[in-house]
Amino acid sequence: MNDYKTLIAFIESQVQSVVPDPGESYRDLHAYFREKIDNPSNDKGDVRLMASRALKVAGLNQNRHSHTASTLNQPANAHKRACAATLLAMSIIRDTSESLLTNDYKRLQKMQTSAVVAELLLLLKKGDTVRSTRHPKLELKNFASAGTRTSLWKMEIEDAYARALDLLLRCEMTFLPPSLPIAQRIRQCFTDYFGDPDAMVDTSTIPFKVGGPTWGTKNQSRLTVAREVMRRVCRNFVRQEVRIYFGGRSIDAGTFAYVSGATNPTKIHVGGMFFTKVQTGLGSEAGTIVHECTHTFAGTKDHKYRSDPCKQLALSEPLKALSNADSYKFFVESAFG
Ligand SMILES: [Zn+2]
Repeated sequence: MNDYKTLIAFIESQVQSVVPDPGESYRDLHAYFREKIDNPSNDKGDVRLMASRALKVAGLNQNRHSHTASTLNQPANAHKRACAATLLAMSIIRDTSESLLTNDYKRLQKMQTSAVVAELLLLLKKGDTVRSTRHPKLELKNFASAGTRTSLWKMEIEDAYARALDLLLRCEMTFLPPSLPIAQRIRQCFTDYFGDPDAMVDTSTIPFKVGGPTWGTKNQSRLTVAREVMRRVCRNFVRQEVRIYFGGRSIDAGTFAYVSGATNPTKIHVGGMFFTKVQTGLGSEAGTIVHECTHTFAGTKDHKYRSDPCKQLALSEPLKALSNADSYKFFVESAFG
């Protein structure tokens, strides 16, 4: 057996040796990995890299199909095997960057072998879903089992959720009511990211994804279009349950957050990079949540990212601006923040 197969066999033997508590079960890591490889939504690069990245950090043979016999089953290598196996599981489950894995590997190496194995089992445990005590409509998944940092991030994500909720409640009160005149400041923010609110557009030419908003009468003002997008986001995010995952498919080193299609309850996946964002102002964590919600509920796309390119888009291609997730993010942050 090569190093990869030795580690997978070790992981399987650990899982088989424990009896899960009622209601709990453990992931079959090999099947989980295959599932990731076969999933067409994995378009963020080759998921096989997740395995080789862990093997590289642990200083092992990175070729999963190599025929070189592994020495990891030798008694002297028991600690190394446990550390490398945990790192491999970590990499496959969380898809984190090489530098994060390097830190994790250093941390694991300093621990007792039994503690490393305990962390491995925690990592493989399914069903880590916790309802937020602060926000009853919010569920958090994978935050407790994904290590010390994520238990701190759990509090940060609850804050980000609360701020997104605030932004959207203000949007509901001051922007959505059709009879309400729009305050000058909000109007200016609108103009920055979508152009003239009263300009008419042919809504059938706005490049929303399938499932995006439609109108009985094709010609509508830009204001009507943006209001409908935000109405969908507010209605769903404010009134419904939301589940936020740490990690998941397609989370790689460069990913802040993503959603996988229209889901109910709303599922938002966040990666470690999410927590590098500011907590208030433009480009915030809460804004990222709003961005993702416009994908889920209103079929927006990612034509442009960042504030200045979004403002430019409003001037050059307003139809794209009206279906661009980041344009809504910056509009909401600047108008209701
Ligand atoms: Zn996006």
